[in-house]
Amino acid sequence: MRIFRGRRITIYQLDSGKFALDGGAMFGVVPKVLWSRLIPADEQNRIPMATHPLLVKTERGWVLIESGLGTGWDEKFKRIYDVHEEDPFADAPVGRDEVSLIVQTHLHFDHMGELATPDGRFRYRAPVVVQAMEWADAHFPHERSRASYVRERLRALEGNVRLISGSGEVWPGIYVHRTGGHTRGHQIVLIRDTDRLFVFTGDLLPTRHHSPLPYVMGYDLYPEEMLFSRKYWYDLFIREEAILFTPHDREAFAGRMYVDEKGKHRLMEVPPDGD
Ligand SMILES: [Zn+2]
Repeated sequence: MRIFRGRRITIYQLDSGKFALDGGAMFGVVPKVLWSRLIPADEQNRIPMATHPLLVKTERGWVLIESGLGTGWDEKFKRIYDVHEEDPFADAPVGRDEVSLIVQTHLHFDHMGELATPDGRFRYRAPVVVQAMEWADAHFPHERSRASYVRERLRALEGNVRLISGSGEVWPGIYVHRTGGHTRGHQIVLIRDTDRLFVFTGDLLPTRHHSPLPYVMGYDLYPEEMLFSRKYWYDLFIREEAILFTPHDREAFAGRMYVDEKGKHRLMEVPPDGD
């Protein structure tokens, strides 16, 4: 767990499980000779990843930005995705019952698995904010999206969701904006702290190595929308000197975006204030 202190909020970057996905699918049209220099693949061509949700202490209570992969996966699933389970609340400053609101970028298993037990029991008392489009698409997946949604765990959310469309302030100082791209209903989460902006990027920017504009994933359902969405948000991230939290770096990461001398977007690491 890593700690980032704002003026009025404190952000705890949690560890909610490690896993691995096919490197080619993670880097889309980027040739392996390029991406394998950034993240080397294992003998099955998978690259090491992890899930790092944020637990945010605000003046009015605790907000959880995603929950990550979580625990209780079966052996076959663990083998396929090389899962190493971690309990994100093992060393967290409060327990699950203390959380007042949960905000999900989308509902793929590596982002929401921890919300539910394997037999479909919801582990929290707080409502889950998600885009209405994502909620619908998760329940009517198609051939290309089906493997990313785990029905047993989604069932736990029924009756516990707060659906939103587009943009909105979901908690004082915490905003969501639909980006599309990865899924139709994918959203990012912006946390405004007086003069500072923190952003949980979701799969708009899955790891620090995905920051160049064309480095969009083969997993993205709408890659062109992702590219255009990135162009809009990257400008804002740079203008506001936002501190960006990526969800899937193997080692938890936070950084500021800049454009290098070749015109490529990159991230400069921002170290935590404590751990
Ligand atoms: Zn993801």
